[in-house]
Amino acid sequence: MSAYTIAVLPGDGVGPEVVAEALKVLLALEKPFPGLRLTFSEHPVGARCYTETGSDLPESTLEACRRADAILFGSAGDPEVRFPDGTEIAPQITLRFLLDLYAGIRPIKKYPGVPPLLSGDPPIDYVIMRENTEGLYASRGAGVRVGDDVAVDNMVITRTGTERIVCHAFEIALQRQGAPEDGKRRVTCVDKANILKSMAFFRQVYDRVAGDYPDIERDYAYVDAFTVYQLRNPAFYDVVVAENMFGDIISDLAAATVGGMGMAPSADVGDRCGLFQPSHGTGPDIAGQGIANPVAQILSAGMMLTWLGERHNEADAVAAAQTIDRAVARTLTDPVNHTADLGGRAATAAVGDAVVEAIQKG
Ligand code: ATP
Repeated sequence: MSAYTIAVLPGDGVGPEVVAEALKVLLALEKPFPGLRLTFSEHPVGARCYTETGSDLPESTLEACRRADAILFGSAGDPEVRFPDGTEIAPQITLRFLLDLYAGIRPIKKYPGVPPLLSGDPPIDYVIMRENTEGLYASRGAGVRVGDDVAVDNMVITRTGTERIVCHAFEIALQRQGAPEDGKRRVTCVDKANILKSMAFFRQVYDRVAGDYPDIERDYAYVDAFTVYQLRNPAFYDVVVAENMFGDIISDLAAATVGGMGMAPSADVGDRCGLFQPSHGTGPDIAGQGIANPVAQILSAGMMLTWLGERHNEADAVAAAQTIDRAVARTLTDPVNHTADLGGRAATAAVGDAVVEAIQKG
């Protein structure tokens, strides 16, 4: 029997709306998986928290995240609320650095029934591994501006940081069944090694790590060309590894190919902590209307269970995650359960209810 404490940080905008649906789904797992015990504690974070308390990530919330077995995060920020230097409230990024959540895991999977963006509706099922703690975003808050004419941000690539994300990418490839197109396990290194020294170094480290995995195919793409391949031949990809900013950009494009931001879950994990949140932000244009798609948040909760199960060698948690995935897949085959972003009219809560019902039907 396993008991896990989950720190729940709903945050701002659509965050609380979609987190409520993910919690509903997690609670529905108690019956089919009585051995799986989850206890939840909710903590403030984000723009509203900043307005009310002067901090977007209070010490008590940070402490709860450190103590919890996993963190379920909604979304945080508000275009209208900014720090005095003009930058946006983004505690999720602060948490990545403070908890060393170096691996951004973004599964890109097209579920049957979701209206296709690409002609021919190719099978899409790959994982983007985004390095989360260095790269160009290491300059966050540390760039230099000289007068009115010059501003500089540095790309930071370290051997240790690159080795661990590339290694993680190959380990994930080992667990998968290969690319939809040909069933081959492959890890694609996405970079700009033809132009930047830092990126040539990233590729060199990738090659060094790839040597430890002779059964997995090596593959390379320059980031600009990769954005074309994502649209022309997504079925070729299995696992993709990239520096922080490139990973950020190709993840958003990838999400669009499988139904949009509301369909893209993510996990930010390190060696000790794991944070699970949808790839989307606060959706300020749709917040408060009950029309956000909760699927990305629900699938992120599923990733949380997989991570907990693998970490604690707990088959029940992994099986519960698979149950979520199957229930979501079944739910999405019926257009009645599609929210506005998928061309439907379903409310956020109705989609959560449908997933719960699919779980109950087994
Ligand atoms: P933030 O600054 O918080 O990242 P944003 O507007 O820049 O906000 P997103 O919140 O990711 O970025 O929103 C991008 C687009 O995706 C918006 O049009 C939004 O309505 C849409 N979107 C985001 N999340 C969802 C969701 N769960 N369901 C449906 N549409 C969504």
